[in-house]
Amino acid sequence: TTFSDLGLNKTLLKTLDRNKFETPTPIQAEAIPHVLGGRDVLGLAQTGTGKTAAFGLPLVHQLIARPEKPAPKAVHALVLAPTRELVNQIAVNMRSFVWNTPLKIGVAIGGASINAQVHRLSRGTDILVATPGRLLDLVERRAVDLSAAKFLVLDEADQMLDLGFIHALRRIAKLVGQERQTMLFSATMPKLIAELSEEYLTDPVRVEV
Ligand code: AMP
Repeated sequence: TTFSDLGLNKTLLKTLDRNKFETPTPIQAEAIPHVLGGRDVLGLAQTGTGKTAAFGLPLVHQLIARPEKPAPKAVHALVLAPTRELVNQIAVNMRSFVWNTPLKIGVAIGGASINAQVHRLSRGTDILVATPGRLLDLVERRAVDLSAAKFLVLDEADQMLDLGFIHALRRIAKLVGQERQTMLFSATMPKLIAELSEEYLTDPVRVEV
């Protein structure tokens, strides 16, 4: 399988070439066509399997296909991850994927100036990568509007639950538009993750590597 077989657009194929991504990893080969087809995805995968590109590339593909500048404070796609380090790592990957496109990646994490984040969010964000706690702080300050988000990604969902983010996740899921595509990735599948999937995913494709 090649990335071109998976249905990604030319801009992204060029980007992948530039990034020296030659062959899709198994989770990319499995998940990307389903995400491009608009399906919700439940992914069982560890870090290092290439799952960031598995959700990130088809997300960027779909946002490029419907170019629309986000309104002030609005977010078009939301990616949640448990830690600052992981958020930063995802953001680095996403920034490489949106190279040569007008899309902007935002980051919202604790331990960094909230005022700077408020200011950047005020212009609108195509893809926001955030930890749940800081995102809720920003919501409470009315610095961000999630109602126009058409994509929600929960990365390392089991770790987010271990860190006590269940209530934050439930609150955030209510704020994101209901007509959305949702992807949930987890290294393990405890009962609470299965329940969350039931609640937030619609007829998901299960992808396991
Ligand atoms: P992840 O599991 O998403 O954290 O990715 C692990 C590492 O593999 C990252 O450094 C990615 O940039 C890299 N990577 C992901 N997919 C590919 C691919 N298809 N070809 C080459 N490198 C990749």
